[in-house]
Amino acid sequence: MPLPRRVTIVEVGARDGLQNEDVIVSTDDKVELIRRLVAAGITRIETASFVHPGRVPQMADAEAVMEVLGPSPEGVSYTGLVLNRRGLDRALATPVNEVNLVVAATEGFSVANQGAAVSTVMASIGEMVAAAQAAGLAATVTISVAFGCPYEGEVEPGVVADLAARIGAAGADEIALGDTIGVAVPPDVTTRLALVRDAVGDTGLRVHFHDTRNTGIANVHAALAAGVSVVDASVGGAGGCPFAPNATGNVPTEDVLYMLERSGIETGVDLDAVTETGRWLARLLEKELPSAIARAGVFPG
Ligand code: MG
Repeated sequence: MPLPRRVTIVEVGARDGLQNEDVIVSTDDKVELIRRLVAAGITRIETASFVHPGRVPQMADAEAVMEVLGPSPEGVSYTGLVLNRRGLDRALATPVNEVNLVVAATEGFSVANQGAAVSTVMASIGEMVAAAQAAGLAATVTISVAFGCPYEGEVEPGVVADLAARIGAAGADEIALGDTIGVAVPPDVTTRLALVRDAVGDTGLRVHFHDTRNTGIANVHAALAAGVSVVDASVGGAGGCPFAPNATGNVPTEDVLYMLERSGIETGVDLDAVTETGRWLARLLEKELPSAIARAGVFPG
């Protein structure tokens, strides 16, 4: 299959990128980060996570972030991450345009991350998707640990395809496969996306890779070759997962953009502006972030 001519980046730095940081970033700085990324041309962006503040303290100001942001600019979609009905109700009371619901591929991760069995989460997915859509929001469902689990190890592709089929039948607008701990290699991506595509028909697909083992960019390329054109990325490569020990950040947005731009694939996003934002974020967090483009610069300069 030829690579897509245009790819949509879903920027997750303000959510997945920050949620594992020990330093609590102020509401104003989160809003500044989001505004910089939108100004760079990002059109889909996870702005907050409506999780229990005791579980992810960095996201405790989700409502405040959305209040300061206000409704999204024309052509831009703000997304709230939601793990349960309570989170959905919180998200629906803010100006988010879409929600990203989560179902884990394993019981171990579901209980650790969401405090509920997979069957419990799945039993409420249809109702949550319908409630979001009735409020005018698009609903993505991310299958977390879709490539491997920190508690249960290998995850069978058939388990992921079966979950995807049920999520598609529940009416989700989009299904994302999450490599939450960064274990996937390209053939895993090819195999799983083919099975999931067969299982869900024309429901939109999206991928979410962490770069824990340096395979993130290769996995993005494999996903593009499998026909997926919506890719999560985090500015600077910031991030991790509070419930996935030693997971590192998402694929860095600027590194993905560099690969796409040099491959002739349109994104509508300004690589230099994102790179500058990544450096700004690194100063804010007082640490070096993993992005190779931040370190080496764009070629040609
Ligand atoms: Mg993640």
